[in-house]
Amino acid sequence: MNYVSTRDNSYTVTAAQAIFQGLSHEGGLFVPESIPSISAQTLSELAEKSYIERAEYVLSLFLTDFTPEEIKECVTNAYSNKFDDDQPAPLSSLVGDKYFLELWHGPTCAFKDMALQLLPELLKVSMRKVGGAKKAAILVATSGDTGKAALEGFKDVEDIKIMVFYPENGVSPMQKRQMYTQDGNNVSVVAIDGNFDDAQTGVKKIFSNKDYEEELAENGYVLSSANSINWGRLLPQIVYYVSTYCDLLNSEEISVGDKINFCVPTGNFGNILAAHYAREMGVPINKLVCASNDNNVLTQAINQGVYDRNRDFFATNSPSMDILISSNFERLVYQLVGNNSQKTNDLMVQLNAMGQYNLDSDVLEKLKQGFWADFCTEKQVLNTIKTVFDKYSYLCDTHTAVAVNVAEKYIEATGDKLPMVVVSTASPYKFVASVLDALEADHNGLDDFGKVDLLEKISTMPIPTSLSELKTAPRRFDINCAAEDMIDEVKKFLS
Ligand SMILES: *Cc1c(COP(=O)(O)O)cnc(C)c1O
Repeated sequence: MNYVSTRDNSYTVTAAQAIFQGLSHEGGLFVPESIPSISAQTLSELAEKSYIERAEYVLSLFLTDFTPEEIKECVTNAYSNKFDDDQPAPLSSLVGDKYFLELWHGPTCAFKDMALQLLPELLKVSMRKVGGAKKAAILVATSGDTGKAALEGFKDVEDIKIMVFYPENGVSPMQKRQMYTQDGNNVSVVAIDGNFDDAQTGVKKIFSNKDYEEELAENGYVLSSANSINWGRLLPQIVYYVSTYCDLLNSEEISVGDKINFCVPTGNFGNILAAHYAREMGVPINKLVCASNDNNVLTQAINQGVYDRNRDFFATNSPSMDILISSNFERLVYQLVGNNSQKTNDLMVQLNAMGQYNLDSDVLEKLKQGFWADFCTEKQVLNTIKTVFDKYSYLCDTHTAVAVNVAEKYIEATGDKLPMVVVSTASPYKFVASVLDALEADHNGLDDFGKVDLLEKISTMPIPTSLSELKTAPRRFDINCAAEDMIDEVKKFLS
């Protein structure tokens, strides 16, 4: 199976090349030329199997240039002994009238682990296939979750080095600590004076520095990215939608062919797009409910067909969804306009120049058939956490609460009675201050770990070991630089 660019579909690459390259040269994203299908029979068979076996099957459909042995090794390295109870994506039994798909049982307690544990494995194999003996240097700008998940995924991976830049004053104390205590002999972490945009702009500048690219090539290095626009980050996410359907079959909550809904807390549109691909493959999914916070650019796009980023940016209590340019939406647009890359390119050029574009009415109709969208305010996030905890003793984080709230709005608006799976994307301990606020617990004057202990006392939910271990983990990185000097840090690191 080949992959094409959303902005020029005459440009065709193999899966390995798509993963190695990340982004197409004209700025488009790689998508599979066609979506493979999965039959009801196969879903029943997969229901008997483990997560790793299900992942092997799904990956084999998309990575036709990988051998079965390569896929098996990638998946095993990524998912065995890395997740609580060896269950990467456990589904809760009914909480009220909803299921929770918990994607935060990995090393960094957020759903980014699902993809970033596997991406390094896929990249290693892809490099072998495409790039010969080259080494890769991964540069990441992060607003919190991605940086840590990428560090954990890439640490000690042979022939790859990774450097993460985070805004000194733009991440939570727990997230900062997760990063500056990072172990591994091929990693580096730098705090920059500036915000997330400065970090991201700095990284992009390094990527487009041709002189430096040549200098690196002489030393055998290629720059690469662990961003969510890489196909190698999207593909691992398709697996857990297939796997959830299998789990529901297995526990006899549904029968073969029954439809279910998912509600996904959305930022860059990667997670929910993976669910859409699972549906396109034939997993019986009815609606995908797109849940946003106050940065509700997607709510407007899906309800009105107008993608408009000319709006105020809000820093909310679900920070990993504070985003106005949902890059992966481009992949859906490409499909909805009939795989027309010229049209997709025109829309994206318009977005770049004017900050907005409109979808034609027939395209909007198709979009609405598959998706339903609404948003949740910060106050509603806190109320939702409290209500769910009081009623069901189930504790969710702020991002998951956005999805719970919007799932309720969907059910109320449509009366849809199909099973609803809420995608739970982070451990509540990662956003402990907001969760304590929601529970109306007084945490004034407590330090980070005091807050964590308080939440454990109230909730009786155990603290993830990877977070409690941070309390005594030594600080390894104390590098600080101005945004303009980021390249000097990269040079020092790679020389
Ligand atoms: C990244 C993230 C999201 C948003 O996911 P997208 O794939 O960007 O839509 C939601 N919740 C948490 C906790 C995240 O880290």
